[in-house]
Amino acid sequence: MSKSRTAVIIGAGIGGITTAVYLAKNGYNVSVYEKNPSPGGRCGQLICEGHRFDLGATMLMMPGIYHEVFDSLGIPLEEGKDIVPLNELYTIFFDDCSHLVFTSDRERMKLQLEKIEPGSYERAEDYISKGYRIFRLGIDKLIGRNFYHLFQMVNLKNIPLLFRIKAFINHYRYARRFFTHPHLLMAYTFQNIYVGQSPFDAPALFSMVPAAELTEGSFFPSGGGMFRIVEKMLAAAEEKGVRFHYGNPVKQIIVSGKKADGIILQDDAEIKADLIVANADLPYVYRDLLPDKRKSVHLDKLKYSCSAMCFHWGLDKVYPQLDHHSVFLSDEFREGLERIFIGKSVSDNPSFYVHAPVRTDPTAAPLNHDTISVTVAVGHIDKNHKQDWDMIREKTRRAVIDRLKRQGLEDIESHILFETCYSPESWENACNISRGSVFGSVGHNIFQMGYFRPHNRHDKYKNLYFVGGSTHPGNGIPNVLLSAKLVSERILKENHTKK
Ligand SMILES: Cc1cc2nc3c(=O)[nH]c(=O)nc-3n(C[C@H](O)[C@H](O)[C@H](O)COP(=O)(O)OP(=O)(O)OC[C@H]3O[C@@H](n4cnc5c(N)ncnc54)[C@H](O)[C@@H]3O)c2cc1C
Repeated sequence: MSKSRTAVIIGAGIGGITTAVYLAKNGYNVSVYEKNPSPGGRCGQLICEGHRFDLGATMLMMPGIYHEVFDSLGIPLEEGKDIVPLNELYTIFFDDCSHLVFTSDRERMKLQLEKIEPGSYERAEDYISKGYRIFRLGIDKLIGRNFYHLFQMVNLKNIPLLFRIKAFINHYRYARRFFTHPHLLMAYTFQNIYVGQSPFDAPALFSMVPAAELTEGSFFPSGGGMFRIVEKMLAAAEEKGVRFHYGNPVKQIIVSGKKADGIILQDDAEIKADLIVANADLPYVYRDLLPDKRKSVHLDKLKYSCSAMCFHWGLDKVYPQLDHHSVFLSDEFREGLERIFIGKSVSDNPSFYVHAPVRTDPTAAPLNHDTISVTVAVGHIDKNHKQDWDMIREKTRRAVIDRLKRQGLEDIESHILFETCYSPESWENACNISRGSVFGSVGHNIFQMGYFRPHNRHDKYKNLYFVGGSTHPGNGIPNVLLSAKLVSERILKENHTKK
């Protein structure tokens, strides 16, 4: 195949890099332009004083999708070597300081669940097996395929399917069919936050998330954390001749008629290409890089995911109370979600997640030191709300530290050597994510999924494509890997050649 066809990719997030590998493997001459000095975007890395932090993604779940994509690109990803299974997926801590360990050990799950709510183990198994069926069906019919026209999604055959995948039942209400204890209701629904939504609003389709976790397990890339996934993909891209240009923001996509001709960089250099793939956040691309503002106004009216306040701490002490992944769920679960999604702020007693990778990967910190990242879901940036992010950051930090102290980490504050915080505004600035809505950015209700999600090809400029969390199928590394596979299949099918 000739190397004469050229592709430019805007952004070196996991979506952009993976698409670069697919296209280079299929004969394209690929250049990637990334605004930041390093790759990874929301799966990026920070190394400070020997402490290594995954900035965004920390959990490797749905390993089957990783294998599907890595295998299709001929990149080795060996379980037990490249990615290590975690026997304990995460520990969930409740406000009364009790805890529940989500584990692949069924006997242990049974003991724990029966203690919280007698009879719940069998119902939990039923919830998980039903959720996993939804996951498989969802992958086949909704998530793992391209939609070229509306009737591929909306047709007589698919209406019963949408009911089968629980697209029209509220997730929390659905969970009530299985559990009554508030701790279990929270434990089996909080995962909606992974895609930036509330279980009180989201469809029960998302029961597939805890189901996939508990069925396929959770893994961690050895010797480097989630950024190893980026590095592996990057190495494959470089081997195939992809050229990466860091610290090179794209400021415009050049269009004429029904075509995108190239890009203009911040320094006014023009780069021509046969096709363009935007990995940068889709609503941002329409708003800031393209001339037609009508579509941008439409995109602005969609529902957006929540944002996150992330604290990264280097500590000179290790706290055995924490698991590799720990989730702290507040008794004010529902109120907390309302403060995020309606108030566009954060609760006084928020639920949050702690990543402490040293437990399984000692290379993440110097000896006897700890590397801890705390993620708290908060409202996204909204011009209709008065939002004082400095105040919200301080309030959130205080609440997290007080909760950790109650869990036995009494002296944690005095052991923080340094701290970095990513607020919704920092996320927006760092990666150009609209409204700092880091889990999408566009939300994941059924009317913003499948064919209804912003398409992976521009409707007018037929050689301008999109990849990443804000297009089909959605947020999270597994979805973004699939997004790269799907858009590449579409590009190859539509086969743009040099005119
Ligand atoms: C706090 C947090 C926790 C998460 N946890 C998990 C998890 O545990 N597991 C999981 O699977 N997923 C997780 N995710 C989601 C996952 O990180 C994202 O879905 C994924 O990284 C998004 O990849 P992407 O390629 O779509 O976008 P991005 O990573 O945003 O990449 C887009 C790239 O485009 C660049 N760019 C933007 N504008 C321009 C421009 N004008 N010119 C040039 N370049 C530009 C950006 O700098 C960025 O590098 C988490 C996300 C966050 C924020």
